[in-house]
Amino acid sequence: MPKMRLEIITAERVVYADDVNVVVAPGIEGELGILPHHAPLMTILQPGELRIVKDGQEQFLVVGGGFMEVMANKVIVLADAAERAEEIDEQRAQEAMRRAQERLAGREADLDFERALGALHRAQARLRVVQRRRPRRPGPPPESPA
Ligand code: ATP
Repeated sequence: MPKMRLEIITAERVVYADDVNVVVAPGIEGELGILPHHAPLMTILQPGELRIVKDGQEQFLVVGGGFMEVMANKVIVLADAAERAEEIDEQRAQEAMRRAQERLAGREADLDFERALGALHRAQARLRVVQRRRPRRPGPPPESPA
């Protein structure tokens, strides 16, 4: 399977750097799937899940928004914040979500709506990725024939 280089970088660190087969990123207008040798592209990302497939293995990260550039078989994500699934602190995300919901419901005069909404979307994206990292519970056993 052909590969492309993926680098996910924040102001603080390199979150991910590897050769991968597929990248699905949270574009501002919806999910954006990138395969190797994609045409050059520059786009804004919204807070959400970033899915990677490498050698048949799927991996989920969360990005808090940012930019993505695709050029010369290389995908560079410059993210405001990004974490791998296993790095996400679930309780912190729950608390951030509750704070944002309270702010949005309270509608105080000095509410920074965009900021509160951004915080809500980041927290929701983190919690979605946390859900994915949980092992799936086996479903009920198939019913035995009568
Ligand atoms: P909080 O209010 O909890 O700080 P936030 O959405 O405002 O949440 P960000 O501005 O997106 O936080 O991120 C700030 C830094 O904290 C980044 O380095 C980000 O990776 C990290 N971070 C934020 N929330 C979490 C979390 N739930 N688990 C792990 N790292 C987190």
